[in-house]
Amino acid sequence: MKKVKLIYNSVAGQSKFKYFLDTIIEKFMQNGIEVSVFRAGKKTNLYEYLKDADEEGVYGIVVAGGDGTINRVVNVMMKNNIKTPLGIIPAGTSNDFARHIKMPYNFSDCIDKILASNIQPVDVGLANDKYFINVCSAGLFSNASQKVDTNLKNAIGKLSYILTAADQLFKFKPFEIRVETTKETIQEKVNLFLIFNGSSAGGIDKFTDNSSIHDGLLDILIIKNCKMIELPQLLGKVLAGKHFDDEHVIYLKEDWVKISKVKGRCDEPDVDGDEGPNFPLEVRCIKHGINMFL
Ligand SMILES: [Mg+2]
Repeated sequence: MKKVKLIYNSVAGQSKFKYFLDTIIEKFMQNGIEVSVFRAGKKTNLYEYLKDADEEGVYGIVVAGGDGTINRVVNVMMKNNIKTPLGIIPAGTSNDFARHIKMPYNFSDCIDKILASNIQPVDVGLANDKYFINVCSAGLFSNASQKVDTNLKNAIGKLSYILTAADQLFKFKPFEIRVETTKETIQEKVNLFLIFNGSSAGGIDKFTDNSSIHDGLLDILIIKNCKMIELPQLLGKVLAGKHFDDEHVIYLKEDWVKISKVKGRCDEPDVDGDEGPNFPLEVRCIKHGINMFL
């Protein structure tokens, strides 16, 4: 019998997923696939669970959780060169990467998609020593997801991010960075930057222009310092996907970028909504680094 390794985060997305566990196991078993289940938590050893994932008979690794849980699985897979395909069930509070690859929100439809076996190589980002599948960012709003209290997140879901982001807005000061690519060096006072493998962050979908998880390139979006009063208009453009030629925006597609902090305060960057490495940040795209059910 073939086997699936299912990892779920029991507290993700207001703990909805656990109630579907039996349905999901049934669905795989009806298709001749046995399910082994791993309940992921802060102190659990994912490596121990995944180290034999490339053995014969393993159909796939399936992770049910949000961007943060996917990030932890991707890091274990990349660091141990695990090539068994990864399937994603969007069961978190923020499911930005799952949305990018158009995984259905209905868990049962999601399993159908994984059972269809459309396996493709997908790019992975590497920020210093930490891999990311969706986005690496720093500055205004970017660590809202890290700073949100888990209890608050589970109680009120996405609203907790908005409240935390609004709180940040009033305290925020721009910072100066140096951005080096193979083609140019830019020094600029900025509000935030986002380095995408995917395309959405914080539930907003149109940050990038024709980005692809197969092209070996990261989409780099830098929002320069602007007046508070200009911010709503810029945000409106971002929501409409019409910000690419705005004077406050720098938009690049590169396979490598180095970002150093020159002046001012900025918390350490975040990767897929979790705490990332500190500056200076060297980010590259690992083309086709992981196999996924798409
Ligand atoms: Mg790309």
